Formats: sequence, C-alpha cells, structure tokens
Amino acid sequence: MRCDLHVHTCRSDGAHTPAEVMRRALEGGIELLSLTDHDTVDAYDELESVATPILLHGVEITTATDDGEELHMLGYFPFGFSSGIRAFLTEVQEERRERMRVALERLGERGIHLSFEALQASCEGPVISRSHLAQAMVDKGLVDSYGGAFRRYIGSRHDIVPRPSIRPEQAIDMIRRERGISVWAHPRLSRLQRELGRLVSAGLNGIEVYHRSRKDHELAPTEALADAHRLLRTGGSDWHGHHPGDQLGQYTIPSQSIRPLLSFFDLPEPEATR
Ligand code: AMP
Ligand code: MN
Ligand code: MN
Ligand code: MN
Repeated sequence: MRCDLHVHTCRSDGAHTPAEVMRRALEGGIELLSLTDHDTVDAYDELESVATPILLHGVEITTATDDGEELHMLGYFPFGFSSGIRAFLTEVQEERRERMRVALERLGERGIHLSFEALQASCEGPVISRSHLAQAMVDKGLVDSYGGAFRRYIGSRHDIVPRPSIRPEQAIDMIRRERGISVWAHPRLSRLQRELGRLVSAGLNGIEVYHRSRKDHELAPTEALADAHRLLRTGGSDWHGHHPGDQLGQYTIPSQSIRPLLSFFDLPEPEATR
C-alpha cells in the first residue's frame, strides 16, 4: 500500500480544503492517508460524503522545549478523536490567537499596523499560524513578499510571535491519555541524538523516520535509533499544496516500512497486508 501519514489542509496552513485534498490523494494513488493539520482535527468533520483513501486519524501539535526550540509532535489515534483531545486543541488554538495579538502589538511598535480581523481573514480554519501572518502582511501591502515578511519581521524563530507554552512532554502525555500514539515529527539526526532519551523517558512512541526533508545519509542512523529505543517508525510528505508542481502522491512510503504502527489500527483487509 502506498501511504502518506503527514498531510495538511487549509484548516491549518495547507492550501486546499479537506475534500479537495482527498480528491488529489486518490488521484495521486495514495491508499492510506493521515491528515495531520497543526493543532486542529476539524478537517475530519468534513469528510462524511467524500471518497477517501483509508484514513488514520492524526494531528500535528506544535510544542517548544525549555530551550525555546520548536518541536512538532504527531499524534495518531486508533480509536478516533476523544472529546479530551478536541478540548485540548481548542485551548491551543486560543493560545495561538493570544500569541498573535502580542505579535500584532509588537509589529505595531515597529510601524506595521495590521488588525486582528485582517489577520483572521487570511485563515480558513481555527488555527492562526505565522504563515497566515506573513500572507496577511502581503495582502495588506505591508511587505513586498511572503519571504520578505519572514526575513524582515517575523524571523524563523520566535522573535515577534511568542513561542507556544506547551512542552513536548505535555503533548506526549496528552496523546497517551487520549489513547493515541505520539511520534516526533521530522527530527533532524543531531537533535535526536541529543534529546531522544529524554522524550522516550516521557513516553514517546515513535519517530517520523521517513520524511521528504530527511537527508539520505541520515536515514540509516535514524532507523537504527528508532530500533534501539524500540520506537515505531512513521512517514509522510508533509504536503501543504502551495506549489503547483508539488503533487500529493509524489512522495509515499510502502506500508511494509510502517507495519508495526499499522498493527494498532483496525484496517480493512486485504489491503492491510499488501
Ligand atoms: P506556526 O505554526 O505559527 O509555528 O507557523 C509555522 C509556519 O510558518 C511553517 O509551517 C511555515 O509555513 C512558516 N514559516 C516558518 N518560518 C518560516 C520562514 N523562515 N520562511 C518562510 N516560512 C516560514
Ligand atoms: Mn505547516
Ligand atoms: Mn512540522
Ligand atoms: Mn507538518
């Protein structure tokens, strides 16, 4: 089976609606898919009358370590989304709005005046991200380009937009409480070597070993680290759909490489064993 367990929709910072993502996933030959929007699972509520590949329930939670480094934690939920996880995400979304209010004030002090309403208008879901902020700045003519908004104002760290308060360990904890599987999203090898032990102690279940941005020479050592800690392997494209040449289905992983993870899910036969 061709699998992609890391895909975004416009309910967070992807370009396309959940239904459109499903159409493209089927067109691209994906057989097993997870929508893993940042801090929201709203996309799943829109798929009732939509043809889809086999779906695994997923989400990507934005956290920050004590050192202020961003760390993304994927959650996969064999039993679906509980009211507990939905309530948790609602709080995270509210914190994102608060962080953006602070950012808008800071931008105002630098002569960039953007209203919260204008920023909100650039979102098609409950999640406001730095990419929406950059886009809103472009739309209002405050900067020349999206990249320029980051270079001149937003930065790639959390200079303007305060970092999230949630720690990786809290996300791991919450995912476990809600009967999910926690997976460290797209970690670089050097960071795994430094921080993996701590997160394993906190209850981490897996590593996103296969990812489009994974460097070839990091693959074998990353697989070895996952095995050494008896962690599950997952993988996906992290597709957002903003670039026309980048089509869903161009990067997939075979189900054989993630079989231990799939054993937690009640998948339709016989595809699951293909
Ligand atoms: P957030 O969810 O608020 O942390 O926003 C993260 C998103 O902002 C990422 O998924 C990127 O799309 C975008 N982003 C972050 N840093 C940069 C950067 N230096 N240049 C362009 N886009 C960026
Ligand atoms: Mn994103
Ligand atoms: Mn991520
Ligand atoms: Mn992602």
